[in-house]
Amino acid sequence: MTVLDRPLPRRPTVAVDVGGVMVGGNAPVVVQSMTNTDTADIEGTARQVAALARAGSELVRITVDRDEAAAAVPKIRDRLDKMGVAVPLIGDFHYIGHTLLTDHPACAEALAKYRINPGNVGFGEKKDRQFATLIELAIRHGKTVRIGVNWGSLDQALLTRLMDDNASSASPVSARDVTREAIVQSALLSAAFAEEIGLPRERIILSAKVSAVQDLIAVYADLARRTDHALHLGLTEAGMGSKGIVASSAALAILLQQGIGDTIRISLTPEPGGDRTREVVVAQELLQTMGFRAFLPVVAACPGCGRTTSTVFQELARRIEDDLRTNMPAWKEKYPGVEALQVAVMGCIVNGPGESKHADIGISLPGTGETPSAPVFIDGKKAATLRGPAIADDFRAMVEAYVARRFGAKATAETEAAEQA
Ligand code: SF4
Repeated sequence: MTVLDRPLPRRPTVAVDVGGVMVGGNAPVVVQSMTNTDTADIEGTARQVAALARAGSELVRITVDRDEAAAAVPKIRDRLDKMGVAVPLIGDFHYIGHTLLTDHPACAEALAKYRINPGNVGFGEKKDRQFATLIELAIRHGKTVRIGVNWGSLDQALLTRLMDDNASSASPVSARDVTREAIVQSALLSAAFAEEIGLPRERIILSAKVSAVQDLIAVYADLARRTDHALHLGLTEAGMGSKGIVASSAALAILLQQGIGDTIRISLTPEPGGDRTREVVVAQELLQTMGFRAFLPVVAACPGCGRTTSTVFQELARRIEDDLRTNMPAWKEKYPGVEALQVAVMGCIVNGPGESKHADIGISLPGTGETPSAPVFIDGKKAATLRGPAIADDFRAMVEAYVARRFGAKATAETEAAEQA
């Protein structure tokens, strides 16, 4: 997969600076994630934020739900800075965000963005006052706000009003349509109120999360038609494992393809003992698979079939992929552009040589009954034939040598000289 030569047009949105990371405008779609540690646990949270950032999360959100958590935020920021992890932190506030940010100015300062849910800022006459306090604090500290509507905590007063209006309308629509409209209106009205209070449009991001794919697509398509605010995309409560990945990818891919979405999060329910960085990997893979961004060299591997009874090629594909991911932080510094590398690991002669020729470097392993040799193709031409028990190690060494030759300093200098000539 390569990054699109002519990227699909993105919906024009207002560019927003989140602690130095640009969201919206012409910026690439930003990957973000969220911790699931207790924020009051400074060490544990700093460790998980660092892991998410190292996996590629460009923004990380943390829960700020009580005094102990708010007090921990500046210490977490400090710990991360000492670890050399500069990723901006986003605070997730519900119910008492106005109090926490007022009582903990160091927390308000350490965060790059406040995520507030207009359905959870307060009820009755307190709602507007508490929402205004949050916005005023963002203005005072020069921070960005994400107004994050979630249909699980939708503004009930707004929903009830729209339901009543619909009931007395001459041509009522379904309750589902009214709910979708309430979600969109909640985001738009809250953004308008924040701007009225004085928060610049360049400091507002909107999101409107639901858990059903078709609802999410309809809500965001409508939101995108009605505002140019930068949009955060995500399916809420997507689920666990493949179900969560498929649901998020299906919904987000359709919206991204329409140019909608400036930052994404894949909300996966963690497997017991699972790795939180999985949501970052999936977000990157989604953007890379669609050709919007390149994060990591791509390994094309065939699914295997009855023509290959050994697991050699599966193991090699896994090892190559693991190697690439492990080497990437160092390679990114040393070999600019290496994220566009394409590697193929194929199981037999049927599609092996053809697919390998399309990759930058590819190997076609011998299927059942084939001569035990593995041709390696580099830049479309056969470069070597590997044999014997060390095929895997030999191929990995060839990948490393190819990366150094193609993306190393000498190659970069030659490319620059050719461009200047
Ligand atoms: S390349 Fe060969 S082993 Fe792989 S799926 Fe195709 S036929 Fe099967």
